[in-house]
Amino acid sequence: MVKPRKKRNVLYPPGMDYFTPHGYRPLKKINEVILTIDEYESIRLADHVNLKQEDAAKRMNISRPTFTRLVDSARKKIADAMVNGKVIRIEGGNYIFLRNRMRCVACGNIWDTVASSKDELCPVCNSENIEDLGRRFGRGRSYRHGSERKH
Ligand SMILES: [Zn+2]
Repeated sequence: MVKPRKKRNVLYPPGMDYFTPHGYRPLKKINEVILTIDEYESIRLADHVNLKQEDAAKRMNISRPTFTRLVDSARKKIADAMVNGKVIRIEGGNYIFLRNRMRCVACGNIWDTVASSKDELCPVCNSENIEDLGRRFGRGRSYRHGSERKH
């Protein structure tokens, strides 16, 4: 029997899922780098929040060596994209979102939320044109806190 892989904690969905070099024309899929959502989270924790790897590993509920491999892989992909002018797409991986986030399509504001709510308005501009970021990433979505669950 294959032991199912333990899902890695990711605090909330990335605000953006696609980065392109200026002036890029997406002709070939081969020019894409796929950064998984757990790799994204390792970069966020290690290089943006500036946690020690041991603490970042605890937050993601993985071992320190696993975290090191994850963040090394993420950094290599980002370097490849920057040096070779590739697109970075964030998708897939083995993860669970602990919280969700919403993005206002009208003004670009991003905020945390515990559950997805269709009734929610942008707290900045009151627009109803709201994107549920957790839903966008689809697979792996399963909030510990909140009303919406999908398995
Ligand atoms: Zn807004």
